[in-house]
Amino acid sequence: MASPLKSLVNDDSRYQKAFHLFLERSSEHQCMQDFIHKVLPDILASIGNGKSHLNVIGVGSGDGHIDLEMFSELRLKHPGVTVDHQVVEPSSQQLYSYKVLVAQRSDLGYITFNWNKMTSSEFEDQWKSKQMTKKADFIHMVQMLYYVADIEATIRFFRSLLDKNGKLLIILVSGDSGWGTLWRTFRSQLCACEISQCVTTADVKVFLDSVGAKYTSYALPSQMDITECFAEGDENGELLLDFLTEVDRFGHTAPPQLKADVLKLLRDPACSRESNGRVIFNNTLEVVVVDPPT
Ligand code: SAH
Repeated sequence: MASPLKSLVNDDSRYQKAFHLFLERSSEHQCMQDFIHKVLPDILASIGNGKSHLNVIGVGSGDGHIDLEMFSELRLKHPGVTVDHQVVEPSSQQLYSYKVLVAQRSDLGYITFNWNKMTSSEFEDQWKSKQMTKKADFIHMVQMLYYVADIEATIRFFRSLLDKNGKLLIILVSGDSGWGTLWRTFRSQLCACEISQCVTTADVKVFLDSVGAKYTSYALPSQMDITECFAEGDENGELLLDFLTEVDRFGHTAPPQLKADVLKLLRDPACSRESNGRVIFNNTLEVVVVDPPT
């Protein structure tokens, strides 16, 4: 049965509000930064094969903060290179923030930014219609695969763009996180719209294994304080609940039983732990670094 619930991504401004609150309440970006500065450098060192010009594609880059952190490490491993960076991002608000961020920096002259205000599948169509043969050295999709209609096709396409030694980096919530539990339990009720939101790295790995792709994965432990979700009528709690379920105004539009079941599971040890009276949700992420097809 089709779900009557509306996806949060259809309301960009509410989505952005919820996403920013999520960043405030979670260690999402901190754990990514740890990874970027401790593990990513060795991965980046292996790309490029000594070339002086690298092609990078950022898919769903958001406001660019994470992209620029990655570039700082890329630059250290490949001093003197120039970079062509294709930013694929459908949200004009996010692209604007990204451009503002770039304008504030004077150390990015080695990067040519190409702004593609479009979805990944529109980018794919454009790439194919222009019959592009350019290969990419590094492609990243950080927390974006939830928003595509067909994750397998998306991974297949972007992986096919990799040059020899290239890497496709995917970050999503881990199948072992609270998100994994929540989505496994309520997938059919929450994720019945046209895009495949309730996806974790467990799904990505099943696909990669099925096509025999070589990859390496890294778990990034992370947490999110969801205490406000349990205060009836709390505005932040409602936004966080929307973000967790990916449903627009979940608290008001979901059938009461579904809402009660979701709230119950959210504070269950399968999803969260209690600490000093706070409910701390398991937000563990996972990075999957995929090799090109051989
Ligand atoms: N990578 C950033 C932003 C993650 S939020 C970070 O980790 O901070 C997900 C981003 O994907 C949003 O900016 C959203 O606008 C973008 N997005 C949504 N649907 C998309 C699609 N179909 N193709 C590409 N990007 C998409």
